[in-house]
Amino acid sequence: MKRILTGDRPTGRLHLGHLVGSLQNRVRLQDEYEQFVMIADVQALTDNFADPQKVRDNVREVALDYMAVGIDPNKTTILIQSLIPEIAELTVYYLNLVTLERVLRNPTVKDEIKQKGYGKNIPVGFAMYPVSQAADITFCRANLVPVGEDQIPMIEQTREIVRKFNSLYGEVLVEPEALIGKIKRLPGTDGGTKMSKSLGNCIYLADSKDEATRKVMNMYTDPNRIHPTDPGKVEGNPVFVYHEAFNPNKDEVQDFEKRYRSGKVGDVEVKKRLAVVLNELLEPMRQRRSKYEENLGEIDRILKEGTARAKKAAEETMSLVRKAMKIDYFS
Ligand code: ATP
Ligand code: MG
Repeated sequence: MKRILTGDRPTGRLHLGHLVGSLQNRVRLQDEYEQFVMIADVQALTDNFADPQKVRDNVREVALDYMAVGIDPNKTTILIQSLIPEIAELTVYYLNLVTLERVLRNPTVKDEIKQKGYGKNIPVGFAMYPVSQAADITFCRANLVPVGEDQIPMIEQTREIVRKFNSLYGEVLVEPEALIGKIKRLPGTDGGTKMSKSLGNCIYLADSKDEATRKVMNMYTDPNRIHPTDPGKVEGNPVFVYHEAFNPNKDEVQDFEKRYRSGKVGDVEVKKRLAVVLNELLEPMRQRRSKYEENLGEIDRILKEGTARAKKAAEETMSLVRKAMKIDYFS
């Protein structure tokens, strides 16, 4: 069976961007692939090292979100990154195969450095997280990585490391491919290019009905449209991106778009309908989540068992790596 590896940073609860970017593919593919889903606490600490409690608390929150969307722990192995020391070991060896110039050229890292205002004081751990991510993907020799578009540079970096490793030491690692979700990059409720936990522009999967509705009603639309009778812009308007992503009634979406363009429908009507659509999507998730919230012992058991399974896969890869790199002393 081919393998999937993907994951999330425990920096907050999961949101609609995660759903269309990656979670839907994970739920769809968990029967066909041997799937590993990682809660990337080590990576979360690269830019949250001063707030370990936040990272710790969000490990469980993310696990609850997995249960909410229908990731099945009997089919998918859910693991905590820091409990697999082989990943840290691989990272150290991979760092030899990458130049400083190359990691800093990564466009996603560049954006994030700007967004976080690091200036010239970039923590080394943060700058090299794409290398650590190559270790995440390869510890189980994954074939496929379901992710959002912002992760393409990470997969490319991983593929380069794999090729370099294999050409130097022999064919041990697997070159992974990215699988992008239905929507490559869901914009934020503020109209920003990406819904992101760090930007505070998210509708969370666990938001209550009132919260989700309030966020939709406050969404950014077309700033140049003052009256409902003004012709409006649909392209790049997040309300319409969300309708296209989440409204199963395609005729209704087309009708809204037509009327919006010609100034025959107001923002309020389009938003009200979007709120209903989203709440219909989120309601079963909220219910599944609350079932597990009452039984956190079960979540801990799932994480513990998944991590133990992943550890076995990591040990297998590590022993091949050690042999290939001639550091398999005494074996
Ligand atoms: P942070 O702000 O802490 O980086 P994040 O919201 O970017 O959080 P991650 O944990 O970094 O979330 O991303 C997990 C996965 O979800 C990745 O595969 C990423 O590409 C995908 N993803 C995150 N946000 C979006 C989005 N807005 N649209 C599509 N995919 C997304
Ligand atoms: Mg991110």
